[in-house]
Amino acid sequence: MAENSKPIRTRFAPSPTGYVHIGNFRTALFSHLWAKHNGGTSILRIEDTDQSRQVDGAVEHLLRIMKTMGVEFDEGFYLKDDGTLAERGSHGPYLQSQRLELYQKHVGELLASKKAYYCFCSEERLEEVRKEQIALKKPPMYDRHCRALSEEDVQTKLAEFAGQGKNPVVRFAIPEGKTEIHDLIYGDIVYENAVLDDQVILKSDKFPTYHLAVVIDDHYMDITHVIRGEEWIPSTPKHILLFQAFGWEAPAFAHAPLILNPDKSKLSKRQGDVTVEDYLNKGYLPEALVNFVVFLGWNPKTEQEIFSPEELVKAFELSKVNKSGAVFDVNKLDWINGHYLRAMPVGDLVDLLIPYWHRDGYGVFDEQGNVTLTHLNKQLSKQYLIDIVELEKERLKKLSEIGERVPYFFKQPDVASVAELLISKKSSAELTKQGLEMLIEQLATFSPADFELATLETKVKALIEQQGLKNIDVLWPMRVALTGLAASPSPFEVASVLAKHLGPEAVIERLETAVSKLK
Ligand code: GLU
Repeated sequence: MAENSKPIRTRFAPSPTGYVHIGNFRTALFSHLWAKHNGGTSILRIEDTDQSRQVDGAVEHLLRIMKTMGVEFDEGFYLKDDGTLAERGSHGPYLQSQRLELYQKHVGELLASKKAYYCFCSEERLEEVRKEQIALKKPPMYDRHCRALSEEDVQTKLAEFAGQGKNPVVRFAIPEGKTEIHDLIYGDIVYENAVLDDQVILKSDKFPTYHLAVVIDDHYMDITHVIRGEEWIPSTPKHILLFQAFGWEAPAFAHAPLILNPDKSKLSKRQGDVTVEDYLNKGYLPEALVNFVVFLGWNPKTEQEIFSPEELVKAFELSKVNKSGAVFDVNKLDWINGHYLRAMPVGDLVDLLIPYWHRDGYGVFDEQGNVTLTHLNKQLSKQYLIDIVELEKERLKKLSEIGERVPYFFKQPDVASVAELLISKKSSAELTKQGLEMLIEQLATFSPADFELATLETKVKALIEQQGLKNIDVLWPMRVALTGLAASPSPFEVASVLAKHLGPEAVIERLETAVSKLK
């Protein structure tokens, strides 16, 4: 365990895959928050030892996402203002493929002290061993064949391999005994070393495997706390044994719980979106996502549900991370996102929504937020969008749904296809027709000022009463005529915004179209 007196240093060590899994983002967040909570240093290290899995531009992409999400590391790669990659910090390089000599040197030491050995086994032999073990219902493990080779045999085989221009792999010789993990979240876990595989630590391309590189880097980068997902617990005894083999003190380990779907299965792509990018594209705000993700395992044990970034730094404690699986509940994310959407100035919210309206083809938008409604060939100011969003923002859960929520402000509602919807179950075709016709006649006499929300509502309701009609005979079909939808803001709200920006005639025209569809 790391001593308390050491300056806290944590690392986030992703492989450059080209996307950021929610679980990885949680690891980044927990690591960063724990470092900041303790006035320590957070480090970004890129684990690119699997050269077959390289993705161009993956590091830049990762950094852009992290920046969007408000997580910036103190050491490692960062993006300069011009968007190019740079590195900072005194413990670099922070890219594993640039540290090969260091790993190879340490493998040499382990070989010399017989804590590691060359393995010359062919793929075919390894496959046979695996099959045999599976047939015997044993966990497949390397059978340690090459661990038993004599020094002479090793030299012969090395010469043979060299002659063929090949390198053998190097395996770690797991010692006898037991290995204990003192996990800050899971508590003590004891492993019998006999169940641990003699892992390959150096591959035939002379690249280290994850297990070796992670230990050497955590040591040389002075990492005090390794914070990562639960799926790495089985690797931890191997890491601890490597630390011991080198004579180094191991850092403290904290494994965050699995992230689960609501049905308690492991969060996976098959069931839906699993990357930060997916959720950003859907129009969840970065602040909301951070606030949601931090609760996947962490429980501050207070009533507070919304935390600012500063509050998170202050409140985050590893001792308040649970070990039971954390359920990924999209409803909660929607709730948090709605909270942030409502809290922001409506003009800013409109700016965020415009790309989604644009994406869905709801009009042509310019830099100032003016919109041209293509079906009317009419340009309206940003105030139109502001007034629309004022009507919807209480219900809006994510940016991407804005188009489908208020299509009727951008094109004529398709009343023909919902003609039946015009007649409420509590009214009749006759009363509906009567109600709409009365409305058309009366609205034609209204001044533009009469369409102001409160006045409109008072006047229309008085007319309904005078005519001996019921609200349901008039207000329901009025709302459907204006929106074409089964659910929307009130008819007065919609009519008032339409009249203000498109003129009272736009309202009357929609009502006339609706009447013409009634039998
Ligand atoms: N490179 C590993 C990953 O992709 C890092 C695991 C660890 O944190 O040790 O998640």
